[in-house]
Amino acid sequence: MRSDNLNPYNIYHKIKKMKLRGNMEFTSEIPPKDNYYKILIATILSQNTNDKNSIRAFKNLEEEIGIEPSKILNTDTERLAEVIRIGGLHKIKAKKIKLATKIIQENYGGDLSKIMDLPYEEARDILLKIPGIGDKTADILLLKMGYPSFPVDTHIKRITKRLGLVNQNARYMEISNVWKKSIPVNLYLDAHMELIAFGRKICKAKNPRCDICPLKSSCRYYGVKIGKESSG
Ligand code: SF4
Repeated sequence: MRSDNLNPYNIYHKIKKMKLRGNMEFTSEIPPKDNYYKILIATILSQNTNDKNSIRAFKNLEEEIGIEPSKILNTDTERLAEVIRIGGLHKIKAKKIKLATKIIQENYGGDLSKIMDLPYEEARDILLKIPGIGDKTADILLLKMGYPSFPVDTHIKRITKRLGLVNQNARYMEISNVWKKSIPVNLYLDAHMELIAFGRKICKAKNPRCDICPLKSSCRYYGVKIGKESSG
């Protein structure tokens, strides 16, 4: 039977006590809280790169072109790619930004807040149909809009699996729901960011710092690792 320590809410508290965030920057926190178009662009820029580079790409884009649907649509994709080059995968991201912007402009007059009156599932389905928007990006936007979404990034996926809160083959929604069911909705954003900070500094992809981790007594990954070491 799972120990009480493995309750996701307790895990969040233990991680929060470590005060890992400090002045850590998150790309999706750079735009104004109610500018959903800019949050979308920041989130696309943050895909498959670190926040330092995606924040620089976002700032370049803001300074060189301006992050508004009309300005993005009036810019060549090649030029757009050049401006966001520092963020990595710049050609693919430029195409995604152009395509997403075209649809947002055509369907919502460039204003994503128009979907905010819709029920949660409907709003999520609409976002997922826009090129460049996957589960994580949709959930970041929905959470910022006030919907009860819990975005799962690569760190949260890894931590949730290592702890044994889900099985190794668990998919996105299962992982998201584990945290959603235990953590109060007003703490979703904070828990999302605390978990990312924990993944960056402690439960790293390579060489996790299990030696100083407060969760090790109830962590499946650590239990297996110790078992192997003592039997080897
Ligand atoms: S004990 Fe190690 S693997 Fe488990 S959560 Fe902590 S750092 Fe991650």
